[in-house]
Order: sequence, then structure tokens, then C-alpha cells
Amino acid sequence: MIPYGKQNISGDDIEAVVEVLKSDFLTQGPVVPLFEKKVKEYVGVPYAYAVSSATAGLHIACLSLGVGPGDLVWTSPISFVASANCALYCGAQIDFVDIDPISYNMSVPSLETKLALAEKSGKLPKVVIPVHLAGQSCDMLEIRRLSEKYGFRVIEDASHAIGGEFKSSKIGSCEYSDITVFSFHPVKIITTGEGGMVTTKDANLAEKLYRLRSHGITRDPKEMTTQPDGSWYYQQIELGYNYRLTDIQAALGYSQMNRLDIFVNKRHEIFQKYSELLSDIDIVKPCLNEEGKSSLHLYIIRLRQNNKLKISRNELFERLRLGGVFVNIHYIPIYRQPFFSQFHFNWDDFPESEKYYSESITLPMYPDLTYSDLEYIKKCLITPIGHQTLF
Ligand SMILES: *Cc1c(COP(=O)(O)O)cnc(C)c1O
Repeated sequence: MIPYGKQNISGDDIEAVVEVLKSDFLTQGPVVPLFEKKVKEYVGVPYAYAVSSATAGLHIACLSLGVGPGDLVWTSPISFVASANCALYCGAQIDFVDIDPISYNMSVPSLETKLALAEKSGKLPKVVIPVHLAGQSCDMLEIRRLSEKYGFRVIEDASHAIGGEFKSSKIGSCEYSDITVFSFHPVKIITTGEGGMVTTKDANLAEKLYRLRSHGITRDPKEMTTQPDGSWYYQQIELGYNYRLTDIQAALGYSQMNRLDIFVNKRHEIFQKYSELLSDIDIVKPCLNEEGKSSLHLYIIRLRQNNKLKISRNELFERLRLGGVFVNIHYIPIYRQPFFSQFHFNWDDFPESEKYYSESITLPMYPDLTYSDLEYIKKCLITPIGHQTLF
């Protein structure tokens, strides 16, 4: 079976984890800050806090920006449900902006149109969450321009995108946003098992993110409402969570960071090989934007309705799965989820997302994918069911 994504674990990774297991601290020890420092230096940002997942990171990112009941948050419908749920956790309302037909990221013209309408009806969003789908940055320059014009804050859902760049800055530098969130789930670019990180340039937001990650507790006398009772003293000054990462996980993350550029470069090599192998097949291949560097988390193809393969998307999906190629769809538009039916979204409001959902398939993409895997995937793509042999 060839999965769509897979982690790469080295001997060094295993040793790093074992070292923590033999140490005094399994959590809240020295390794989490070391991992944070490593990510900070890599992306070029003053503050970074490791969290238990990107979902947790998105939640405290929204809270730190003051998202609450009565507020609106907008994101892309072509994302994982967590990009929308973070707003709902805060009691806010969620809405979606349709995607761009080429990059599949949030469409800037659609965002601009929707903002102009929202301004008239007095329903502007407090926060917009662009998602860097497949590791390719959204047009952050334009999104920042709109955020200044309409007064919303920006959280980058960069769950797919550590190691990527937009213009001359690394994703996570928050050059064009308030907060960036990474995921370290095993299918993503680097992994800690479960885990994530939030980054920001803003000292006040950093303080809030740090507190919210651990119960809303502070040990800093400057943040306390009274003088400390003694050196043991701490105060809970708001409602926070236990969204901490363990030192065991951070050790894995730190060790994985040593190979981040290698991982991304391998993904680019695989991308090139796919381009060559699939050049004569009538599918729409992913388009790389010149304005940055994608971390290439996913390799998404589209199959047009009257394609020369003479096959429907669903048939091709089943053909690949039957052949042992564990393709996937990223994503089912979030508004289609049964839980979201209570918000009465009109699917026709998102024509590009609907079209994308009916045409897309995610092919396998991970550093250890071999050339013979790719040749096998191509064979499955073009060989009718019944003519295939399992590899
Ligand atoms: C994976 C993912 C998340 C959630 O990440 P977790 O670390 O599993 O919580 C959020 N948004 C997007 C776009 C993702 O792909």
C-alpha cells in the first residue's frame, strides 16, 4: 500500500526521544523551549510557542485576538474542519470565502467582494484565516492590504506549510499576519506525533498565547492583580487550557527540524518526477506560484469532466485505491459537513470549491516515495481495473 503521506523517522529522532525518557523531565522541561527556539530561528520570528496540536493553536490564536460571541471569522472551505472549528470554540460565527481556481487557496477577488458587501451590511469579520493549502502560500500581501482597509486580523493556518516561503520571508515569520499556526501531525512536513506551534511578532499577543496554552496562569508579577504572596505564587488571570506539548514530543520535533530543508527539497524532486511522468496524461497538475516556495505537503490533481482518460473522478479514485494507492481528497468543503448544516450555508455560494471538490484527487507525496512508487502510481492512473496487478 502506498499512503498519501507518511512521516520519516531516523535513528537520530529515536535517540533524541529516548534521551528525554531517561531524563528528569517528560514535560515542562528544557526541550520544549529548545524546539521553540529552533523554529523561531528558522522562520525568523521573535515568539513561538509549541502547543499540543494545530487545532489547539488555532483556538488560542482566536482567543488571543479577542474572538468571542457576536464576532465573525472567515476561512477557506477547502481546508480541514479545524480551520473553522476554532471560531466556533470561541462562540463566534464562521463564514467561508470561495477558492481561487488555480491555487485552490482563498480567492483574493472573492474576499474583496465579500468584504465590500459585509461592510455595507455591518458584518465585517474580526479575523480572517487564510489556509496555505498543500504548503503553497496564499497571496499574503493582498490579504494584508485588505486587512488594513477593512480592519480585520489575520491568522495563517500554515498546518501544511512549515519550510515554505512567501516572497522573501519564511512562512511563520508573520511578516503579513498577526499569528501563524503550524501542525506537526505525522502526515505534515515535520512531526511530533501530535503537536503544533503558534508564532507571532507581537509581544502582547505572545504573552496571551503563552498564558492560554497553560490554564491562563501567569508567574510574572507584572501580570498579577496583586503582589505575589511568595516565590511559590502564581495567578490564574483568565480561562486557559492545557494545550502544552511534552518534552518527549519536542525532542522529536527538534530532531526533525534538522531535516526540514531536506524533506522539502525531496518533495520538490518528487514534484519534478511527477511532472515528467504525468506530462502526457490528461489531468490538471498542481500549479506552483512564482512568488514563493511551497513546502509541497500535498500533490493534488484534477480530472476534468470530459477527460481523455474517459473516466470519472470517483472511478479513478476507486481504481487507484484498488491498486493499493491510498489516494485521498483534500478536502470535503467544510460547509458540507452535517454539523455545519445548522448554519444554513448555500453551497452555490462557493462554485469554485464545489467544482474543485468534484474534480480533485490527492496523489501520494512524502520524502520516501521512490521512483518505482511513482511509476506504479502512473500505471494505476492509466490502466483500467481488471488489468492491474498488485505490486
Ligand atoms: C492538519 C490540519 C489542521 C489540524 O492540525 P492538528 O495538528 O491535527 O490539530 C488544521 N488545519 C489544516 C489545514 C490541517 O491540514
